Amino acid sequence: MTQPLILIIEDEAPLRRFLVPTLTTQGYQVDVAGTGAEGIVLARSYNPDIILLDLGLPDKDGLEVLRELRNWSRKPILIISARNQEKDKVSALDLGADDYLTKPFGAAELLARIRVALRHATQTVLDSPLLQCGSLSLDLEKREVTMDGVPVRLTPLEHRLLEALARRAGKVVTHAQLLNEVWGPSGEGQTHYLRIYMGTLRRKLEPDATRPRYLLTEPGIGYRLNVE
Ligand code: CA
Repeated sequence: MTQPLILIIEDEAPLRRFLVPTLTTQGYQVDVAGTGAEGIVLARSYNPDIILLDLGLPDKDGLEVLRELRNWSRKPILIISARNQEKDKVSALDLGADDYLTKPFGAAELLARIRVALRHATQTVLDSPLLQCGSLSLDLEKREVTMDGVPVRLTPLEHRLLEALARRAGKVVTHAQLLNEVWGPSGEGQTHYLRIYMGTLRRKLEPDATRPRYLLTEPGIGYRLNVE
């Protein structure tokens, strides 16, 4: 099998000098575009397996590039952005980006996110309704949750919330996405629902609810079910 091809759309030279060798030594094929326009042309010409997209590009807003890519591509797109761009990250995720990395990030984090995104791209949840994270085990088909083999009783809403995270295990899910999937239109803007239900889920599922291992908060953005 050929190695996955990664397209990086990023204008900052120091970051490119970090990204390219980090990814090529892992066996990925890598190509780089320095502008949004060039990135769109390259993506169209060979449909890369995964795209790393910077939001701050010299010629176009990264969100605009994302919208154009999502018109035709379903391949994973990871956002690379600066720490002060929380609102843009949420917009990007709601527009269909798969995940984001906040600068500065390390090689281990980058490679883990790429593995998760590629795994999701090649496998649907229906292929494997079972999810194991540490001592936590979820069977999405039977709607069963166990901790160290002991069944955990969840309310229907708690179960739907956990399932919404598990369907994108390892990836961040935004507040708006979770509220919409679990509560529907009545949940719009009600982020306090999430704080309450994540609190009860953590008390039931986390060995130490004050230091979550599985149900991680992404401040200002959403939540992530940690599978590493
Ligand atoms: Ca930039």
